[in-house]
Amino acid sequence: MIELPIRDPCDLCVASREESWKIINENEHTLTVINPWQFEVGQCCVITRRHVATLLDLSDQECGAIMASAKRVAEALVKTYQPLGILTFQNNGVFSGQETPHFHFHVVPRQKGSDWGIGPPQLATFDGAGRKRGTSHDPSGDAQRLKRVQFSAKQLTETANLIRSNLPE
Ligand SMILES: [Zn+2]
Repeated sequence: MIELPIRDPCDLCVASREESWKIINENEHTLTVINPWQFEVGQCCVITRRHVATLLDLSDQECGAIMASAKRVAEALVKTYQPLGILTFQNNGVFSGQETPHFHFHVVPRQKGSDWGIGPPQLATFDGAGRKRGTSHDPSGDAQRLKRVQFSAKQLTETANLIRSNLPE
C-alpha cells in the first residue's frame, strides 16, 4: 500500500475552486496551474479535476487528458521562455517525494544554473542544475530556498497570464 501525504484542506482542490487566477488552461478532466513555488520561472502542474491521489487512481480518459495538457503547456513554455529543456515528473506516495495527495504532473522549463533544490535526483549530477556537478542536494537550505522562490499572488497572476497568451491555438 502506497503511503500518501496528508494535507487538509487539499491545496490543489483549493487552487482549482478558489484561486482561478492560478489556472492557465483547463479541460473536462484537467487543470493546468502555475506552481506557487517557482524554482524555475514558469513551472506549472497539470492536475486532475477529481481529487485523486496517484497515477494508480486515474481513468484512461484522465491519463490521455493529462499528457495532452502537459504537451500543450510545454509548447507555451518553450515559446515564452526558450528553456534549455522541459522537465516533467510526477510523484506517487511519500516515499517518492509526493507532498500533496492530489494527482499533479510537473512541467518545468529548465534554465542553466537555476536555483533548483527539490526535484528528481538525477539533476544532482547534471551540470547546470544549479549546483556543482557530482554534489547532491543539501536540504539544510530548503527553508530559505522555499521562501526565495515563493512568488506573490501578483507575480503568479502575471506569469500565468503570460504563459496562457502563448498557448497553441
Ligand atoms: Zn484535492
